[in-house]
Amino acid sequence: KSVEEDAAIQYLQAQYEKINPNEIDSFKDLPLSQKTLKGLKENNYVTPTAIQKQAIGYALQGKDILGAAKTGSGKTLAFLVPMLECLFCKKWTRLDGVGALVISPTRELAYQIYETLRKIGHYHDFSAGLIIGGQNLKFERKRMDQMNILICTPGRLLQHMDENPLFDCSHLQILVLDEADRCLDMGFEATMNAIIENLPSERQTLLFSATQTKSVKDLVRLSLKFPTYVAPHEQA
Ligand code: ADP
Ligand code: MG
Repeated sequence: KSVEEDAAIQYLQAQYEKINPNEIDSFKDLPLSQKTLKGLKENNYVTPTAIQKQAIGYALQGKDILGAAKTGSGKTLAFLVPMLECLFCKKWTRLDGVGALVISPTRELAYQIYETLRKIGHYHDFSAGLIIGGQNLKFERKRMDQMNILICTPGRLLQHMDENPLFDCSHLQILVLDEADRCLDMGFEATMNAIIENLPSERQTLLFSATQTKSVKDLVRLSLKFPTYVAPHEQA
């Protein structure tokens, strides 16, 4: 079984360098694991949106991404799909701890991301947790060390980093900053900076922002390495 899985992973990774986002018509045209393809299909995700085609392709190639796209363009799958593939290809298990972190400005948006992850990630074996405050801190705390994927709001995440001895992101592989401009508008600049300082620098980072203000550019400089800029034309 493991030999088969290794072969499947090698087969996928061998195709990454050949991805051409302009030739992608359906999710099946991307070199994705069967588990992810099944999760997408069963939730009726067939044709990737413009931002998904580009961001997924470049993110699979291991690049840091700076994504500029409006609300409703499909950013959630643009980062959840490569995130799942990243952990899958590294054969991440529950014992490996936190491998992926998604930071979202509000509880509601974090919850929506979590729900989408539960759907499309259904066939993977990763554990996922929502760290958004307004809930029992002790409960979040106890479970934190068993989570592979954390969907967080900035304030609550930093609180865990500061106060929770079980919190360990030292093996983090991939960081997603969703709606970065909104996080900054809400006054989380210092919080975001502190979070990023606490994370290992050897990681992949995907940052999405509808606008590119000065403070977004500062955050980009702090968090991304040689990012690929992805800004698809909106489809009519
Ligand atoms: P954004 O984060 O850019 O505002 P979302 O990721 O929330 O956008 O997606 C907006 C809506 O489009 C959601 O209802 C989502 O289910 C739907 N959607 C996203 N990608 C696709 C797709 N490839 N095919 C069909 N519907 C999609
Ligand atoms: Mg969104």
